[in-house]
Amino acid sequence: MKTNSPAGTKTLTTKVLIIGGGVTGTGVMRDLALRNISSILIDQHDLNSGASGSNHGLLHSGGRYAAKDRDTAIECRVEGEILKRVASNCIDPCGGMFVAVDGDDLDFASQFPDHCQAAGISCTPLSPSQAMEREPSLTKKIVAAYEVADATIDPFRLTLESVNHAMELTDSFYMPHTRVEAFEIGDGEIRAALCRDGRSGEQIRIEAEEVVNAAGAWAMRVARLAGCNNVNLLYSKGTLIISNSRMSSGVINRLRPPGDGDILVPGGTVSLLGTTSATIENPDRITPTVDEVDRILAEGTDMVPSLADARFIRAFAGVRPLLMASGHGGDGREASRGFALFDHKEQNLRNFATVTGGKLTTFRLMAERVGDLIAKRLGSSAPCKTAVVPLPSGPAICWTEPGFSARDWYARQDPTDRILCECEMVSESSIDSIINEAPGSEADMSVKAISLRSRVGKGSCQGAFCSIRVTSYLYDKGIYSSEAGLAHLRDFVKERFKGVRPVLWGAHVAQMELAEALHCDLMGLDLK
Ligand SMILES: Cc1cc2nc3c(=O)[nH]c(=O)nc-3n(C[C@H](O)[C@H](O)[C@H](O)COP(=O)(O)OP(=O)(O)OC[C@H]3O[C@@H](n4cnc5c(N)ncnc54)[C@H](O)[C@@H]3O)c2cc1C
Repeated sequence: MKTNSPAGTKTLTTKVLIIGGGVTGTGVMRDLALRNISSILIDQHDLNSGASGSNHGLLHSGGRYAAKDRDTAIECRVEGEILKRVASNCIDPCGGMFVAVDGDDLDFASQFPDHCQAAGISCTPLSPSQAMEREPSLTKKIVAAYEVADATIDPFRLTLESVNHAMELTDSFYMPHTRVEAFEIGDGEIRAALCRDGRSGEQIRIEAEEVVNAAGAWAMRVARLAGCNNVNLLYSKGTLIISNSRMSSGVINRLRPPGDGDILVPGGTVSLLGTTSATIENPDRITPTVDEVDRILAEGTDMVPSLADARFIRAFAGVRPLLMASGHGGDGREASRGFALFDHKEQNLRNFATVTGGKLTTFRLMAERVGDLIAKRLGSSAPCKTAVVPLPSGPAICWTEPGFSARDWYARQDPTDRILCECEMVSESSIDSIINEAPGSEADMSVKAISLRSRVGKGSCQGAFCSIRVTSYLYDKGIYSSEAGLAHLRDFVKERFKGVRPVLWGAHVAQMELAEALHCDLMGLDLK
C-alpha cells in the first residue's frame, strides 16, 4: 500500500477495498488474508456499528427457519456446526429449546420435528417436566418442547478477532470513521473510492483493484453510488431488551411462526429478549421505543413469567438488510433470511461486488462466496480456508467477554490496578491493553471505541460512573485534550441514554436519576 497527497487529498492504494466493518466485511477481510490477499477495511463509524452490534448473538441451529425457509435453515445448521469448530473462542455452546405454550398453534408445533428432519436439524422432544428441569424459569403452561443445538456467539469478539488475524497474516489494515461518499468510475471499473474521515473532515481517495460492498443495510445506497440499481433491500427494524442477570441457561425460542418477544438468549451474565420486526424507510438513527419494549415483554412473559419482575438495563435496535424479491409485499417477517452476492460486472463494473442479506450465523459462508469471486478475479487459485483454520485469539480481544475482566483482576490481585468500571470490573490495565493492542490506532480510542472493545458501560449503571472515569483516564494519558474528551463523553452518555429511556421503571429510575445528577449537574453536560 502506498500513500501520497496530490492537491491535499490523501490517496491510498490496496488490492481490495472492503466497505463495512460488520461481521460480513471483517469476515471477507480474514477470508482474503488467508488467501494471502491484502485489503483495506473501512467503516463510516467503527466495527459493529450496524446490525452486527445490535442483534441477539444467537448462533441459530436452523430450527427457527425450518418451517418457512428450508434453505436458510440448512445454511444455519451447517454454518453453526463449522463455527463451533473454528471459532469456539467466540461461542457459548449453551444449547437451546423451542417451547409452545397454552394457546399456541398445536398444528405448527406438531409439524416442527418433520420440518427439522427435512433440514437435517437435530431436534429431541422433551416432556414439559424435562423442559422445566432444564429451564426452571419456564412457564408451567408448556404444551410442547424440543431440544435443539442453538448456541450464542459474541459478534464483538468475532469481528475484532477477524480483523486482528487478517492484519497478522497480511499488510491489511482497518480505518474507522471513513465513509465512502462517491466512486470515480472509468473504462468499466471503479478507479477509486472517495471517502471522508468523519472526525477530521479530511478527504481520502482509495484506489483498489477490487471493491467489495459489505455495507449491510446500507449496501443498496453504496451500490447506487456506483450506479448499480439492482440491489434492492427491505429495512426491517428489530428491537431487543437486556436484563441485568442471566434468565436462562440456554436459548429459549417460542415454538410458533416468528413473532415479537419470542427468543430469550443468554449473553454471558445477562439475557437478551426480542425481537420486533417493523419495516422502515431509513436505516439511519433508529431508536427503540416504549411501545416496542412493552410488546416484547408482554410476549416474552408468556414463555418465561419471571421476566415480568426482571430488571432491564437497556433496549437497543438494529436494522436487518432483507433481500427484496420482485413482487414482494414488504413484510419483514415473511422475507427470506438468505443472502445474495451481486457481481456488478453485469452492470459493466468488472471490479465491484456487493454482498448483503443473510445472518450473523451465515457470515462465514457469505465471506467465502465473496473471497472465491475476488480471488478468481485477481487470478489467485488459493482456496477458502475459513472452514478449517481456527480463528486465533489475538491480544486484547478477550475484554468483550462478560465476566472476563473480573476474573482477570481477581487472579492478578494487583491493588495498584484501579477499577474504572465497577459493574463489569474493567481496570486501568485492561484499558491500556485495548489502547495498545486492539485493532484500531491509539488516536481512535475514544470512550465509545473502548466500549466496543470491552464491557465498559454495559453493566447496570449503563456508563454513569465508568464513562467519566474512562474519559478522565484518556485525558491523563494524553489521548484527549481540550474539549474533545467532553464532547465524546456527551455523545457516549447520550447514546447510552437512548437505550435506557424505554426501560425506565423500578430500581432503574433511581439509578438514572443519579446518572443525570452526575452528567448534567456535576459535569455540566447538555444532553438535549
Ligand atoms: C434486531 C436484530 C437481531 C438479530 N439477531 C440475529 C441473531 O440472533 N442471529 C443471527 O444469526 N443474526 C441475527 N441478526 C442478523 C445479523 O445481525 C445481520 O445479518 C448481520 O449482523 C449483518 O452483518 P453485516 O456485516 O452484513 O452488516 P452490518 O453489521 O450492518 O455492517 C455494515 C457496516 O457498513 C457500514 N457502512 C454503511 N455505509 C457505509 C459507507 N458509506 N461507508 C463506510 N461504511 C459504511 C456501517 O457503519 C456498518 O457498520 C439480527 C439482526 C437484527 C437487526
